[in-house]
Amino acid sequence: MSLNMLKQEIIEYSKTIGIDKIGFTTADPFVELKERLRTQQQLNYQSGFEEQDVDKRTDPKLIMPEAKSIISIALAYPSRLKKTPKNEKQNRRGLFASVSWGRDYHVVLRERLIKLEAFIKERVPLAVTKSMVDTGELSDRAVAERAGLGFVGKNCSLITPEFGSYVYLGEMITSLPFPPDEPILDSCGSCNKCVEACPTGALVQGGQLNAKKCLAYLTQTKDFLPDQYRDTLGNRLYGMDKCQIVCPRNQNKNFYLHEEFEPNPELAMPPLKPLLKISNRKFKETFGTVSGSWRGKKPIQRNAIIALAYFKDETALDDLIDVMKTDPRPVIRGTAAWAIGKIGGQKAILALKTMETVENDEEVLQEIKKGLAIAKNKLTKESPSRS
Ligand code: SF4
Repeated sequence: MSLNMLKQEIIEYSKTIGIDKIGFTTADPFVELKERLRTQQQLNYQSGFEEQDVDKRTDPKLIMPEAKSIISIALAYPSRLKKTPKNEKQNRRGLFASVSWGRDYHVVLRERLIKLEAFIKERVPLAVTKSMVDTGELSDRAVAERAGLGFVGKNCSLITPEFGSYVYLGEMITSLPFPPDEPILDSCGSCNKCVEACPTGALVQGGQLNAKKCLAYLTQTKDFLPDQYRDTLGNRLYGMDKCQIVCPRNQNKNFYLHEEFEPNPELAMPPLKPLLKISNRKFKETFGTVSGSWRGKKPIQRNAIIALAYFKDETALDDLIDVMKTDPRPVIRGTAAWAIGKIGGQKAILALKTMETVENDEEVLQEIKKGLAIAKNKLTKESPSRS
């Protein structure tokens, strides 16, 4: 069987196993990407989550010496909830970005790629393959772009003509020299909406991303969230998709094609207060299957505290005071102290003053002082005569 025929068979088969787009490219090095990654490194724009070896990230043969081609796949995911839970005053809710709705896409795409590998090996038993989804060495986006699935927009997402940028990507390096597909000829043109909409200026002109400023990345860090991003975070618990939402290419793109990606609204927008004291076991049971849980419960809890401050949720004050007094993790105690200050009032000030006398951790003490200053300032503004 010729490789062209096998390619057609693979394309047909991919449709039967729930792959929405498929494309083929060579295993040649990604020369342009290499340049871009080096610049990213020099500018210190990288998140730190990615593979550090730029050569490995851009040369498939360094990952698999027999590499001759790469197959890129895409699965579309929903961008809007069918039913949005009420975000009520007594029961404020956080938000997981759509990239984390439904079952973890890493698992789902890996399952599809395993089926595709089996299909190929049934026909060419000596074929060598290596599949990856997101956490592999290669850039899913660069592979998908060269394989003709779409183009990379100024929001740094791969934009497909059919599904916009709401697609998960994965790829398989193979030892078979499949005829490659052509990249599609498209671009953002003069549109600049995502760059203008980004609240932290993380999208640098020319399709570059300063990951250290990107809220999607910042929701996943485990340290204190830097002060300048706390008010901007809003109620986001994981991820941020404003740069996708504003994109004209994404208008009316909302695909419910896969059962696995059907969001559970209670997990996509969970109530905030129960997150403050959730046990490891309960967290795993509840959120273990969504991709947004990959960093564990700490970043989600920190973000939940910031979200309660954003809502100025007075009904959360007692829980936050308790967290500030008892949580063993300084980041959580300190963020709670700051949030207590943001919510404000006499009770908040009293709790912060008490903790100021007993807290030993220097960073937490700084947050207590910050919280106190914010709460006192707020009180002064509300009732100037009491100042
Ligand atoms: Fe490109 Fe405009 Fe979409 Fe940004 S919003 S990715 S500039 S089309």
